[in-house]
Amino acid sequence: MVVTVDGPAGVGKSTVARALAAALGIPYLDTGAFYRALTLAVQRAGADSTDGEAVLQVARASRLDYAGGAMLLDGEVVTDAVRAAEVGALVSVVSAFPEVRRVVVQQQRDWVSRHGGRAVVEGRDIGTVVFPEAPVKVYLIADAAERARRRAGDAEAAGLKVADIEHQLRARDHLDSTREASPLRPAEDAVVIDTTALPVEQVVALILGLVAEATD
Ligand code: C5P
Repeated sequence: MVVTVDGPAGVGKSTVARALAAALGIPYLDTGAFYRALTLAVQRAGADSTDGEAVLQVARASRLDYAGGAMLLDGEVVTDAVRAAEVGALVSVVSAFPEVRRVVVQQQRDWVSRHGGRAVVEGRDIGTVVFPEAPVKVYLIADAAERARRRAGDAEAAGLKVADIEHQLRARDHLDSTREASPLRPAEDAVVIDTTALPVEQVVALILGLVAEATD
């Protein structure tokens, strides 16, 4: 089965999705890392990130893969490189082009197929577009100030004040939720969980309950 975990930046998706995948004994896929790796490829190619055709060419020429928790770009481990602030600043621009998303989404679906069709898949459009038939869908939310505090520990936020991190998160969420292609929003059949005051274990337990219901 596929379990989808969507929501805005810094809401705790990765932590929750990883713990959930471990508890279920199925693979975990971080789809944001795909868009980040593509953004890195665009930067390395010296391509214009606002030019959809140029980004599409890079997307078609790039091999994106995720193995053992590592993001691979043309076979090179880029897990840390994709967390750079420069990548974070551009990823929402690169990921907004519909034809680029088609290429990346296909790679994500292929990945899940190669892994036997069972995975916890984390992103923005997983429940709405990538796996609309998934039997368990959750959409995590949390106060922006709390999300900024959580992000403060990440490499991408190193040296930044919490208020600046919050500003960046809001800017990225705005781009992600107002774009025309696959905007950030909960699927109609997603269960929305507010994680502001919930510890990770409780969020995971809630979702495990939903999985148990779906497999009854
Ligand atoms: O989850 P993460 O913060 O790494 O995602 C980085 C960016 O990649 C998001 O802000 C969004 O622009 C894009 N993304 C997306 N669709 C997904 C996952 C991420 O557009 N499924």
